[in-house]
Amino acid sequence: MDTLTAQRATHITHLRALVRIWPAHHTPDTPTTDQAGRVRRYAETIVAAIDDDISEGIVPAGIGSYADLHRYIDANDYLIAAGVPYDGTQASIDLTVAVQGLVVARLRHGDRPYCTHGACNYPAHDHTTAYDPNGQDLNQAPPMRCRHCDRPAHYDARLDDYRHDDPATPDCFLIHRDD
Ligand SMILES: [Zn+2]
Ligand SMILES: [Zn+2]
Repeated sequence: MDTLTAQRATHITHLRALVRIWPAHHTPDTPTTDQAGRVRRYAETIVAAIDDDISEGIVPAGIGSYADLHRYIDANDYLIAAGVPYDGTQASIDLTVAVQGLVVARLRHGDRPYCTHGACNYPAHDHTTAYDPNGQDLNQAPPMRCRHCDRPAHYDARLDDYRHDDPATPDCFLIHRDD
């Protein structure tokens, strides 16, 4: 018992010493900065790939979430193409979540252009009004506006739904973004 007690005491002393040493030797700044840099580089690569797909008409401009991306393509391909490592560990899950979070932040708050009448690259969009309340010539194809809030809007054939052009437009009675 005496030996065991002595061993425990030594052990506890070591642990206490470790606790005291830890803050002095632990330098969170360096790894954290490295990690932030990695996340930023991955996110930049992915946003550039999304921009390529927007210019090729594969996804529309104005995408504001991963859920939204998934409606058009398999958004996980962006992570794979960017080489974001994933091995099922918590660290790789955290990295993926951080990269996706930054990508979405860039998509939403990057002052990015969005699809609108006359500046749309997405074949499945219709930014013109499909009905004519005044019996006027529809060949002029006036820009569609939301019939509830009057903001510029479009029909997305891929989603089979209407959307406000500006993703920052708040949902109204008729149009919800659901992302
Ligand atoms: Zn469009
Ligand atoms: Zn509206």
